[in-house]
Amino acid sequence: MFDLSDRRVLVTGGSKGIGLGIAAAFAAAGASVAITARNAVDLSTAAARLADLGAAQVVAEVADVADRSAMQLTTDRIVAALGGLDVLCANAGIFPEKALDALDEADLDSVLAINLKGTIWAVQAATPALEASGRGRIILTSSITGAVTGYPGWAHYGATKAAQLGFMRTAAMELAPKRITVNAVLPGNILTEGLQEMGQDYLDAMTRTIPLGTLGTPADIGATAAFLATDGARYITGQPLVVDGGQTLPETPEAVLPLAV
Ligand code: NAP
Repeated sequence: MFDLSDRRVLVTGGSKGIGLGIAAAFAAAGASVAITARNAVDLSTAAARLADLGAAQVVAEVADVADRSAMQLTTDRIVAALGGLDVLCANAGIFPEKALDALDEADLDSVLAINLKGTIWAVQAATPALEASGRGRIILTSSITGAVTGYPGWAHYGATKAAQLGFMRTAAMELAPKRITVNAVLPGNILTEGLQEMGQDYLDAMTRTIPLGTLGTPADIGATAAFLATDGARYITGQPLVVDGGQTLPETPEAVLPLAV
Protein backbone atom coordinates (compact mmCIF):
# COMPACT_ATOMS: atom_id res chain seq x y z
CA MET A 1 0.00 0.00 0.00
CA PHE A 2 2.94 2.34 0.61
CA ASP A 3 5.42 0.99 -1.97
CA LEU A 4 6.56 3.63 -4.49
CA SER A 5 9.33 1.67 -6.20
CA ASP A 6 7.44 1.39 -9.49
CA ARG A 7 6.44 5.06 -9.67
CA ARG A 8 7.68 7.54 -12.26
CA VAL A 9 7.81 11.01 -10.76
CA LEU A 10 8.43 14.56 -12.02
CA VAL A 11 9.32 17.28 -9.52
CA THR A 12 9.49 20.86 -10.83
CA GLY A 13 11.98 22.99 -8.93
CA GLY A 14 13.59 19.72 -7.84
CA SER A 15 17.19 20.98 -7.73
CA LYS A 16 17.03 22.60 -4.29
CA GLY A 17 15.07 23.05 -1.10
CA ILE A 18 11.63 21.52 -0.77
CA GLY A 19 11.65 20.18 -4.34
CA LEU A 20 14.88 18.30 -3.72
CA GLY A 21 13.43 17.03 -0.43
CA ILE A 22 10.42 15.69 -2.34
CA ALA A 23 12.59 14.16 -5.08
CA ALA A 24 14.83 12.60 -2.39
CA ALA A 25 11.85 10.95 -0.67
CA PHE A 26 10.81 9.30 -3.94
CA ALA A 27 14.42 8.39 -4.80
CA ALA A 28 14.92 6.72 -1.41
CA ALA A 29 11.74 4.73 -2.08
CA GLY A 30 13.31 3.42 -5.29
CA ALA A 31 11.14 5.42 -7.70
CA SER A 32 12.25 6.81 -11.06
CA VAL A 33 12.66 10.56 -10.59
CA ALA A 34 12.86 13.50 -12.99
CA ILE A 35 13.68 16.99 -11.79
CA THR A 36 13.51 20.35 -13.55
CA ALA A 37 14.83 23.83 -12.70
CA ARG A 38 16.55 26.73 -14.49
CA ASN A 39 20.11 26.30 -13.19
CA ALA A 40 21.90 23.36 -14.87
CA VAL A 41 24.71 23.13 -12.31
CA ASP A 42 22.30 22.79 -9.37
CA LEU A 43 20.35 20.22 -11.37
CA SER A 44 23.34 17.97 -11.98
CA THR A 45 24.42 18.16 -8.32
CA ALA A 46 20.90 17.21 -7.26
CA ALA A 47 20.72 14.40 -9.83
CA ALA A 48 23.90 12.81 -8.46
CA ARG A 49 22.43 12.93 -4.94
CA LEU A 50 19.18 11.30 -6.09
CA ALA A 51 21.12 8.49 -7.79
CA ASP A 52 23.08 7.91 -4.56
CA LEU A 53 19.81 7.69 -2.61
CA GLY A 54 18.68 4.75 -4.73
CA ALA A 55 16.43 6.15 -7.46
CA ALA A 56 15.75 3.53 -10.15
CA GLN A 57 16.40 6.22 -12.78
CA VAL A 58 17.22 9.94 -12.63
CA VAL A 59 16.49 12.51 -15.33
CA ALA A 60 17.38 16.20 -14.94
CA GLU A 61 16.17 18.80 -17.45
CA VAL A 62 16.57 22.57 -17.57
CA ALA A 63 13.14 24.18 -17.92
CA ASP A 64 11.45 27.37 -16.74
CA VAL A 65 7.93 26.56 -15.49
CA ALA A 66 6.80 30.01 -16.58
CA ASP A 67 7.49 29.07 -20.21
CA ARG A 68 4.49 27.04 -21.33
CA SER A 69 5.96 25.56 -24.49
CA ALA A 70 9.26 24.71 -22.77
CA MET A 71 7.32 22.91 -20.04
CA GLN A 72 5.40 20.95 -22.65
CA LEU A 73 8.53 19.91 -24.59
CA THR A 74 10.45 19.09 -21.41
CA THR A 75 7.61 17.06 -19.94
CA ASP A 76 7.27 15.12 -23.20
CA ARG A 77 11.02 14.33 -23.11
CA ILE A 78 10.80 13.24 -19.47
CA VAL A 79 7.76 11.03 -20.11
CA ALA A 80 9.63 9.37 -22.99
CA ALA A 81 12.75 8.86 -20.87
CA LEU A 82 10.85 7.41 -17.90
CA GLY A 83 8.44 5.39 -20.06
CA GLY A 84 5.42 7.22 -18.59
CA LEU A 85 4.52 9.33 -15.58
CA ASP A 86 2.59 8.52 -12.39
CA VAL A 87 3.25 11.54 -10.18
CA LEU A 88 3.69 15.27 -10.82
CA CYS A 89 4.94 17.41 -7.96
CA ALA A 90 4.35 21.00 -9.12
CA ASN A 91 6.70 22.62 -6.66
CA ALA A 92 8.76 25.34 -8.41
CA GLY A 93 8.18 28.72 -6.83
CA ILE A 94 9.76 31.98 -5.74
CA PHE A 95 9.05 34.18 -2.72
CA PRO A 96 10.59 37.61 -3.21
CA GLU A 97 9.72 40.04 -0.39
CA LYS A 98 8.16 43.36 -1.41
CA ALA A 99 5.89 45.69 0.54
CA LEU A 100 2.50 46.26 -1.04
CA ASP A 101 3.05 49.98 -1.58
CA ALA A 102 6.29 49.30 -3.49
CA LEU A 103 4.95 46.44 -5.60
CA ASP A 104 5.12 47.12 -9.34
CA GLU A 105 3.78 45.28 -12.34
CA ALA A 106 7.04 43.41 -13.00
CA ASP A 107 7.14 42.11 -9.40
CA LEU A 108 3.59 40.88 -9.65
CA ASP A 109 3.98 39.39 -13.12
CA SER A 110 7.04 37.31 -12.23
CA VAL A 111 5.45 35.79 -9.11
CA LEU A 112 2.21 35.06 -10.94
CA ALA A 113 4.08 33.62 -13.94
CA ILE A 114 6.19 31.19 -11.91
CA ASN A 115 4.01 30.30 -8.91
CA LEU A 116 0.55 30.24 -10.45
CA LYS A 117 0.85 29.98 -14.22
CA GLY A 118 3.85 27.66 -13.84
CA THR A 119 1.75 25.32 -11.71
CA ILE A 120 -0.98 25.26 -14.33
CA TRP A 121 1.42 24.76 -17.26
CA ALA A 122 3.08 21.84 -15.47
CA VAL A 123 -0.28 20.22 -14.74
CA GLN A 124 -1.46 20.69 -18.33
CA ALA A 125 1.73 19.22 -19.75
CA ALA A 126 1.67 16.18 -17.47
CA THR A 127 -2.03 15.34 -17.59
CA PRO A 128 -2.06 13.02 -20.65
CA ALA A 129 0.75 10.87 -19.22
CA LEU A 130 -0.84 10.86 -15.75
CA GLU A 131 -4.13 9.73 -17.28
CA ALA A 132 -2.33 6.94 -19.14
CA SER A 133 -0.83 5.81 -15.83
CA GLY A 134 -4.30 4.99 -14.49
CA ARG A 135 -3.26 6.11 -10.98
CA GLY A 136 -2.02 9.64 -11.62
CA ARG A 137 -1.18 11.93 -8.72
CA ILE A 138 -0.65 15.67 -8.72
CA ILE A 139 0.84 17.25 -5.61
CA LEU A 140 1.13 21.03 -5.50
CA THR A 141 3.48 22.88 -3.17
CA SER A 142 1.37 25.75 -1.86
CA SER A 143 2.13 27.46 1.50
CA ILE A 144 0.51 28.47 4.75
CA THR A 145 1.25 32.06 3.60
CA GLY A 146 -1.76 33.40 1.75
CA ALA A 147 -3.69 30.13 1.96
CA VAL A 148 -4.02 30.29 5.78
CA THR A 149 -1.99 33.22 7.13
CA GLY A 150 -0.75 36.65 6.11
CA TYR A 151 2.74 38.09 6.38
CA PRO A 152 3.79 41.67 5.55
CA GLY A 153 5.88 41.75 2.37
CA TRP A 154 4.26 38.73 0.77
CA ALA A 155 0.86 39.96 -0.44
CA HIS A 156 1.69 39.02 -4.06
CA TYR A 157 3.26 35.71 -3.07
CA GLY A 158 0.38 34.86 -0.72
CA ALA A 159 -2.10 35.59 -3.48
CA THR A 160 -0.44 32.97 -5.71
CA LYS A 161 -0.30 30.36 -2.94
CA ALA A 162 -4.00 30.81 -2.16
CA ALA A 163 -4.78 30.77 -5.88
CA GLN A 164 -3.09 27.38 -6.21
CA LEU A 165 -5.78 25.99 -3.90
CA GLY A 166 -8.57 27.48 -5.98
CA PHE A 167 -6.98 25.89 -9.02
CA MET A 168 -6.56 22.58 -7.17
CA ARG A 169 -10.24 22.19 -6.32
CA THR A 170 -11.50 22.51 -9.88
CA ALA A 171 -8.57 20.56 -11.32
CA ALA A 172 -9.43 17.74 -8.88
CA MET A 173 -12.98 17.74 -10.25
CA GLU A 174 -11.92 17.83 -13.91
CA LEU A 175 -9.24 15.17 -13.51
CA ALA A 176 -11.16 12.74 -11.29
CA PRO A 177 -12.68 10.96 -14.32
CA LYS A 178 -9.11 10.41 -15.55
CA ARG A 179 -8.32 8.77 -12.15
CA ILE A 180 -5.90 11.56 -11.26
CA THR A 181 -5.96 13.01 -7.74
CA VAL A 182 -4.89 16.60 -7.06
CA ASN A 183 -3.80 17.67 -3.59
CA ALA A 184 -1.64 20.39 -2.08
CA VAL A 185 0.94 20.45 0.68
CA LEU A 186 1.04 23.73 2.62
CA PRO A 187 4.48 23.96 4.23
CA GLY A 188 5.14 26.24 7.15
CA ASN A 189 8.70 27.56 7.53
CA ILE A 190 10.98 24.96 5.99
CA LEU A 191 14.74 25.43 6.20
CA THR A 192 15.72 25.65 2.53
CA GLU A 193 18.30 27.63 0.59
CA GLY A 194 15.52 30.08 -0.28
CA LEU A 195 14.44 30.54 3.35
CA GLN A 196 18.03 30.90 4.56
CA GLU A 197 18.31 34.02 2.39
CA MET A 198 15.79 35.67 4.76
CA GLY A 199 18.54 35.91 7.40
CA GLN A 200 19.04 34.52 10.90
CA ASP A 201 16.76 37.08 12.64
CA TYR A 202 13.83 35.95 10.50
CA LEU A 203 14.62 32.26 11.11
CA ASP A 204 14.86 32.81 14.90
CA ALA A 205 11.61 34.80 15.00
CA MET A 206 9.81 32.08 13.03
CA THR A 207 11.17 29.30 15.22
CA ARG A 208 9.76 31.01 18.33
CA THR A 209 6.24 30.79 16.84
CA ILE A 210 6.33 27.04 16.16
CA PRO A 211 4.79 24.80 18.87
CA LEU A 212 6.98 21.83 17.89
CA GLY A 213 9.98 24.12 18.39
CA THR A 214 11.95 23.79 15.16
CA LEU A 215 11.77 24.86 11.55
CA GLY A 216 10.67 22.11 9.19
CA THR A 217 13.01 20.30 6.81
CA PRO A 218 12.63 19.48 3.11
CA ALA A 219 12.40 15.83 4.21
CA ASP A 220 9.22 16.65 6.19
CA ILE A 221 7.55 17.85 3.00
CA GLY A 222 9.07 14.99 1.00
CA ALA A 223 7.49 12.46 3.34
CA THR A 224 4.09 14.12 2.98
CA ALA A 225 4.29 14.23 -0.81
CA ALA A 226 5.42 10.60 -0.90
CA PHE A 227 2.44 9.57 1.25
CA LEU A 228 0.02 11.39 -1.09
CA ALA A 229 1.47 9.37 -4.00
CA THR A 230 0.92 5.96 -2.39
CA ASP A 231 -1.98 3.60 -3.03
CA GLY A 232 -2.93 4.27 0.59
CA ALA A 233 -3.83 7.85 -0.35
CA ARG A 234 -5.81 6.96 -3.48
CA TYR A 235 -9.11 8.27 -2.06
CA ILE A 236 -7.79 11.73 -1.08
CA THR A 237 -8.35 14.46 -3.65
CA GLY A 238 -8.79 18.23 -3.70
CA GLN A 239 -7.32 18.63 -0.21
CA PRO A 240 -4.88 21.11 1.30
CA LEU A 241 -2.58 19.53 3.91
CA VAL A 242 -0.79 21.88 6.33
CA VAL A 243 2.69 20.69 7.41
CA ASP A 244 3.95 23.40 9.76
CA GLY A 245 4.87 22.01 13.19
CA GLY A 246 1.69 23.60 14.51
CA GLN A 247 2.73 27.13 13.50
CA THR A 248 -0.79 28.14 12.43
CA LEU A 249 -2.39 26.93 15.69
CA PRO A 250 -1.56 29.49 18.41
CA GLU A 251 -4.14 32.23 19.06
CA THR A 252 -1.37 34.41 20.53
CA PRO A 253 2.45 34.14 20.65
CA GLU A 254 2.14 33.49 24.43
CA ALA A 255 0.20 30.30 23.66
CA VAL A 256 3.39 28.64 22.38
CA LEU A 257 4.77 26.64 25.33
CA PRO A 258 8.51 26.22 25.88
CA LEU A 259 9.94 22.89 24.78
CA ALA A 260 10.35 20.31 27.52
CA VAL A 261 14.01 19.40 28.00
P1 NAP B 1 14.26 27.31 -3.06
O1 NAP B 1 15.13 26.69 -2.04
O2 NAP B 1 14.56 28.69 -3.55
O3 NAP B 1 14.15 26.32 -4.32
C1 NAP B 1 13.30 26.67 -5.38
C2 NAP B 1 13.40 25.65 -6.48
O4 NAP B 1 12.51 26.02 -7.54
C3 NAP B 1 14.78 25.56 -7.09
O5 NAP B 1 15.00 24.27 -7.58
C4 NAP B 1 14.69 26.56 -8.24
O6 NAP B 1 15.69 26.30 -9.19
C5 NAP B 1 13.28 26.24 -8.74
N1 NAP B 1 12.66 27.31 -9.52
C6 NAP B 1 12.47 28.61 -9.15
N2 NAP B 1 11.90 29.27 -10.17
C7 NAP B 1 11.75 28.39 -11.19
C8 NAP B 1 11.24 28.49 -12.51
N3 NAP B 1 10.80 29.65 -13.02
N4 NAP B 1 11.23 27.37 -13.28
C9 NAP B 1 11.70 26.20 -12.80
N5 NAP B 1 12.20 26.05 -11.56
C10 NAP B 1 12.23 27.14 -10.78
O7 NAP B 1 12.75 27.40 -2.54
P2 NAP B 1 11.96 26.47 -1.52
O8 NAP B 1 11.98 27.12 -0.20
O9 NAP B 1 12.38 25.07 -1.66
O10 NAP B 1 10.48 26.65 -2.12
C11 NAP B 1 9.94 25.68 -3.02
C12 NAP B 1 8.43 25.79 -3.00
O11 NAP B 1 7.97 25.66 -1.66
C13 NAP B 1 7.89 27.12 -3.52
O12 NAP B 1 6.72 26.89 -4.27
C14 NAP B 1 7.55 27.88 -2.25
O13 NAP B 1 6.50 28.78 -2.44
C15 NAP B 1 7.12 26.74 -1.34
N6 NAP B 1 7.20 27.03 0.08
C16 NAP B 1 8.40 27.19 0.70
C17 NAP B 1 8.43 27.40 2.08
C18 NAP B 1 9.70 27.50 2.87
O14 NAP B 1 9.64 27.75 4.07
N7 NAP B 1 10.86 27.30 2.29
C19 NAP B 1 7.24 27.49 2.78
C20 NAP B 1 6.03 27.35 2.12
C21 NAP B 1 6.03 27.11 0.75
P3 NAP B 1 16.20 27.45 -10.23
O15 NAP B 1 16.31 28.73 -9.46
O16 NAP B 1 17.50 26.93 -10.75
O17 NAP B 1 15.17 27.53 -11.30
